[in-house]
Amino acid sequence: MSACANCPKPLGNEASITCDNCNSRLHVVCTGLQNDDRITRNKVRNVKIYCNRCTTIAEQRTALPQLFDNLAEDLVSKLEQKINDKFAAIKEKINNLQSSPSNPELFEEVANEAVERIIRSKNVIIRGLPESVGNVEAKIQNDTVKVSNILKTISTDAIPEKVIRLGKPSASASFH
Ligand SMILES: [Zn+2]
Ligand SMILES: [Zn+2]
Repeated sequence: MSACANCPKPLGNEASITCDNCNSRLHVVCTGLQNDDRITRNKVRNVKIYCNRCTTIAEQRTALPQLFDNLAEDLVSKLEQKINDKFAAIKEKINNLQSSPSNPELFEEVANEAVERIIRSKNVIIRGLPESVGNVEAKIQNDTVKVSNILKTISTDAIPEKVIRLGKPSASASFH
């Protein structure tokens, strides 16, 4: 004797009906319909009857898209909040900068000074390097080679970016 799909009792002689999805049989009373309705297959031809298991699966399937919608909405609102927070922080920084007592010219001066300092920190002044001869290009070329050799001698990987002679060329060197 097979059991009802919705309850632990056997089907027995009670009126039973088939689940329209999985074909398992269940008591008519176990469908939630009234027994005294005397429901038969013919009478409920237009009504689909599902066992509890199939109803649960169907409900979960219907609920899934809604669940995804809720999740997506939640994510979007969290992202929005984060972006708003970031914007607020940036706005506050800008406001602080604008309301700071230093004027823009002074700010630029300080910024330029800082950049200059960084650039100058990489400068090397070499004293007593013999003057090179020839035209301007030849002199620069010559000085660059000399400076490169010195840097190599003190075993650094540094390559001179620009070589500049400080001061005026001596009269003797310009005639050599
Ligand atoms: Zn039952
Ligand atoms: Zn079923």
